[in-house]
Amino acid sequence: MNGNIDIAIIGGGAVGLSVAYHLLQMGGCSVRLFEANRIGSGTSWHAAGIVGPLRSSLNMTRIAMYAGHLFSELENETGKSTGYRQTGGLWLAQNHERLTELRRIHAMGNRVGLGVEMVSPQEVTQVAPHLRVDDLAGALWVDEDAQVSPVDLCAAYASGIKQLGGLIEEGQPVERIETDNGKLKGIALLNGERVKCDRVVLCAGLWSRTLAANVGVDVPLQAVEHMYVVTEPIDQLREPVPVVRDLERGVYLKGDTGKMVIGGFEKHAKIWNPASEIPTDGGYLMFAEDWDQFAPFMQAAVERMPVLESTGIQMFMNGPESFTPDTKPLIGETPELPGLFVAAGFNSVGVMSSAGVGRELSEWILNGRPRFDLWEVDIRRVSPKWNKTKNLHLRMQEAVHTQFAMHWPLKQPEPRVGLHRSPLYERLISAGAVFGCLPHWEVPLWYAESESERSIIHTFGEQPWWDITQREAERMAASVALIDLSQFSKFKITGKQSLEGLQYLCDGDMDMRLGQSKYTVMLNQRGGIEADVTVSRIDSNCFRVVSGASTRYRDFSRMRQILDYFDDVLIEDRTQDEAVLGVMGPLAREVLQRVFSENLQTEKFPFGHIRKVKIGGMEVTALRRSYAGELGWEIFMQVDDAMMVYDLIRAAGEDFGISHLGMLALDGCRIEKGFGHWSHEWDSDVTPIEARIEHTLGTRHRDYLGYDAIRRQKEQGVSQRLLLLEVLLQTSERPLLLHDELVLCDDEIVGLTTSGAVGPRTGNLLSFALVEFEPGESFLEICNKHLQIEVAGDLYETRVLTEAPYDPDGMRMRG
Ligand SMILES: Cc1cc2nc3c(=O)[nH]c(=O)nc-3n(C[C@H](O)[C@H](O)[C@H](O)COP(=O)(O)OP(=O)(O)OC[C@H]3O[C@@H](n4cnc5c(N)ncnc54)[C@H](O)[C@@H]3O)c2cc1C
Repeated sequence: MNGNIDIAIIGGGAVGLSVAYHLLQMGGCSVRLFEANRIGSGTSWHAAGIVGPLRSSLNMTRIAMYAGHLFSELENETGKSTGYRQTGGLWLAQNHERLTELRRIHAMGNRVGLGVEMVSPQEVTQVAPHLRVDDLAGALWVDEDAQVSPVDLCAAYASGIKQLGGLIEEGQPVERIETDNGKLKGIALLNGERVKCDRVVLCAGLWSRTLAANVGVDVPLQAVEHMYVVTEPIDQLREPVPVVRDLERGVYLKGDTGKMVIGGFEKHAKIWNPASEIPTDGGYLMFAEDWDQFAPFMQAAVERMPVLESTGIQMFMNGPESFTPDTKPLIGETPELPGLFVAAGFNSVGVMSSAGVGRELSEWILNGRPRFDLWEVDIRRVSPKWNKTKNLHLRMQEAVHTQFAMHWPLKQPEPRVGLHRSPLYERLISAGAVFGCLPHWEVPLWYAESESERSIIHTFGEQPWWDITQREAERMAASVALIDLSQFSKFKITGKQSLEGLQYLCDGDMDMRLGQSKYTVMLNQRGGIEADVTVSRIDSNCFRVVSGASTRYRDFSRMRQILDYFDDVLIEDRTQDEAVLGVMGPLAREVLQRVFSENLQTEKFPFGHIRKVKIGGMEVTALRRSYAGELGWEIFMQVDDAMMVYDLIRAAGEDFGISHLGMLALDGCRIEKGFGHWSHEWDSDVTPIEARIEHTLGTRHRDYLGYDAIRRQKEQGVSQRLLLLEVLLQTSERPLLLHDELVLCDDEIVGLTTSGAVGPRTGNLLSFALVEFEPGESFLEICNKHLQIEVAGDLYETRVLTEAPYDPDGMRMRG
């Protein structure tokens, strides 16, 4: 049989079933779901069934919260029980730092209206009298913590799918995804049938990686043995038994019809690889009991719940679960193969996430994007290096344990694998660089001047590196500093319609003079910002585009997909061909003039321009821009020339006391300058008007993607805006402002912070925040509001800054 359909789904676990259900609910498409064995027989049936709606970020919480609604709704719709039951839950803290972390998470719960409360150890005993609490500092209570029966849930999804006219084919293994000339064609089944379709959704759990790899797509996940035990019935249990997460011990406890379920998240999880690429083994795989691996959890559970000491174990469940290098799922359209969507790598929360992920992915497939920004879990964040088998195995030493580990600011992955290094790495080490990790790169966080400055100290309080960033920034502001920016994503766009393509992609007018460069943003249909980039015109049909480090694959694939509609346009990813060195500070011109062939005076080389320049016989490209807000140039050079160019500039700067500036100081400097950036201040849900970067909107330029939405918003007004807030301190202790802290106006929650810093040149405590207000309220009215920021339960007064606190007129940068 040869069949044509719109969408094929591979995998009938909780996730694939939910995607099918939501696609059919949205309607307008034909869907077939192929399951190699029986539905739910992969990983889903193993699940302990915990449903925990409170996650570490706003959008992940919004995704998780939908489960509470859907799991009961499905019961009404299908008449089949999902076993969904709200029990409430506790997150236990044994020390002050953990309590601080929980207070920060508590704020997130408050923002979305969950029933969250910080409780004392005595209050813990009131809801969970079976627990020992004498070692606790406190706990976080969540009303909406719940449980579901994974097997019943899968059956209810399947029933819903059938009611909606969908087709589930069990015992139908998919052999491969089919492509033709790099384009998705459909799938081939093991029985020889070929199914043509223009969209495939890969929900094959741990088997997804291989199916994807066969068509050149990276889905970096690794299965490990994941275990829990179920005890004999316990008489004294008082129902409902709340879900308990004993974070320090890495163990969870949950009630189950009079018994307890005990599971945990360990270091050095046991890697497991399937014997066959396609699961034709009948499913319901179960590994042997491993008490060596599980004993620490059992002991921890007994310490927390003494009655377990004398309770027998009824069942040992050990099944495979997929974890990812950054412990976040992999969702969305793959950059390598448009039309292929993925939802896999659920890091032990796939059953509860199935509801929200199914709904958002269906929106993504049918309407081009999810209802809210999902960059955090977007598969386009992934680097091919993450997918190397050796790197995946190494990451499993930590990935599972990360679930309950402290989420310290500046926490570094250990071991560090799958990362690029700057071509200047050796030089930066010699200069004292202390490296930290961006998603794809190791970057200098700061430059140490003594052994004591080399260690990264974790705390939620005052950061030891604040003084270092101040030292680095002061030196730059007084003279000149070098900043390694090699991690920038760099693209070259050429061809007959390259200008037309960029005009459509960017909100600013890209019809610039040769040698001119502009900061601009790329929008979606709704006017939301999809990328922020610097575009430089090198020739009439040749442009250079530079964007942030983490969005490399997302920016490239999105630009390529859109530019494909234009004649003869080629986009190349040049990220690893070039190193970039920022030379910033009031003496940058004098230093560079010693080694550059070009006249660097403003009349000859104005701000916002790019030139090819000779240095020591080598040709480099100099771009006059500054993210730090100082006079300066970004020097783009061939990787092979990088060390020599660096040496020449450093030697030229010796007389001027040239120094180095790390990423943390740069981040503080950009906030002091009021420069936001994508994935912190704005994302695909925030428009340039809301982000207060209207200056990027071209005045004559009218035909860019998102223009209509922007025009409408200009007429109708906005109801959220990005503000730069200064925290007004009453004491000398400065709170750590990260992101996602609550912003309150007269006790009402009105927004969240997006990033924060102690300004390294001004000393001001600053934070960007996205704040809601009444439509029609003017910026001046907003400035006069009484806004406070809540950090870990403490309130801080703020004032809205109407201009950047550092060099508001930009005279230093443009001088
Ligand atoms: C011990 C344990 C406890 C857990 N506890 C919880 C919990 O409390 N809460 C929670 O939310 N999550 C929990 N999880 C995690 C959860 O079970 C998973 O994240 C979730 O089941 C993943 O669902 P899935 O649909 O992505 O994958 P799966 O359930 O594995 O479904 C994938 C399906 O794809 C099929 N398939 C694969 N290849 C092919 C092919 N080529 N052709 C056709 N079909 C194919 C497989 O047969 C399988 O049925 C737990 C997991 C384990 C192991």
